[in-house]
Amino acid sequence: MSHKLETKAIRTQMERSQFSEHSTPMHLTSSFVFEDAEEMRAAFAEEKQRNIYSRFTNPNTSELVAKVADMEGAEDGVSYATGMGAVFGTFAALLDSGDHIVSARSVFGSTHSTFTKFLPKWNIKTSYFDIAKPEQAEALIQPNTKIIYAETPTNPGVDIIDLAFLGELAKKHNLILVIDNCFATPYLQQPIKFGADLVIHSATKLIDGQGRVLGGVTVGRKDLIRELYLFARNTGSALSPFNAWVLSKSMETLPVRVDRHCQSAITVAEFLESHPKINWVKYPFLKSHPQYELAKKQMSQGGSIIAFEVKGGLSAGRNFFDNIKLLSLSSNLGDSRTIVTHPASTTHSKLTLQDREAVGITDGMVRLSIGLEHPEDIQNDLAQALEKI
Ligand SMILES: *Cc1c(COP(=O)(O)O)cnc(C)c1O
Repeated sequence: MSHKLETKAIRTQMERSQFSEHSTPMHLTSSFVFEDAEEMRAAFAEEKQRNIYSRFTNPNTSELVAKVADMEGAEDGVSYATGMGAVFGTFAALLDSGDHIVSARSVFGSTHSTFTKFLPKWNIKTSYFDIAKPEQAEALIQPNTKIIYAETPTNPGVDIIDLAFLGELAKKHNLILVIDNCFATPYLQQPIKFGADLVIHSATKLIDGQGRVLGGVTVGRKDLIRELYLFARNTGSALSPFNAWVLSKSMETLPVRVDRHCQSAITVAEFLESHPKINWVKYPFLKSHPQYELAKKQMSQGGSIIAFEVKGGLSAGRNFFDNIKLLSLSSNLGDSRTIVTHPASTTHSKLTLQDREAVGITDGMVRLSIGLEHPEDIQNDLAQALEKI
């Protein structure tokens, strides 16, 4: 029987031990023991699925992966020490020297650095299309293209990319569609329904949701996941069982937390939109968002991230940041604490000014990750800081 997302987030679980634990037990062990030589041989020959060594699998990492895969409608998955471990591990496992990627221009800062600084070491090049014009992507496809890559909503601009369009394009050209679904979480959007082959999460963000641990997961097609698993198992990007336990427990509250994040975010986004000291606000479920209709089609709610620009450029922006009292000035997102970030000087500072402008990261742009404090307190802190600029 198929359950709803909220139930999957709680009830997808590992086998219990002889102690019949109700909650998920923690398995802090680097290796596992065998009864005899035959059992050990069969395990290494993969004739029998079982844990051997925690660099390969561990009950806690397997439970986390199973939950994310179940919610995403994926066949299987692999976990990684960080979200970037998942991004790099996915590319490294699937691409050969000389292969080519077609990517949306607006991607997470470190993913951008992976494309521009590291993958070229193995002669893997990337061509970019504008998020608002995915139809440009088809012209970029070359005989050696293997992957189409995008994140939606994007970090930090919260732009929306048409998943169904990319799904059809990938199918038509027999390419692997990889989607970074970090901002939406497996609760708000399931890219596999729209044709994605692999879905990546930085579990560090809303999956943990409390700013404690790092983690990453890639889920999707079984044949591709097999490649990813063998690469990860041998090259050592394993997620620690402790972090996997934290993340799997966090998954149980993901839907209720995300519901609250989204309710508060739309309230704050509407407040900012009506504020005279603000140039523009972008939030997927605001009617003024250029891709509002598309967001409604592929997401069930708008998420926890708002982008906006204060009037008065860099100096007004700095003034605004310096007057924030309650909220956190930090670079993380998807936390129970509301976080205010200045992407141009932090997460996306490694991009050239030209690259930043191409993806809409202006000097005065602020990224707001709405937390779980009372929305009135979030709004009041923003209001008093805006008064001072
Ligand atoms: C944070 C983030 C990542 C990287 O995740 P880490 O866990 O920090 O390595 C990748 N993609 C997006 C969209 C992110 O926000």
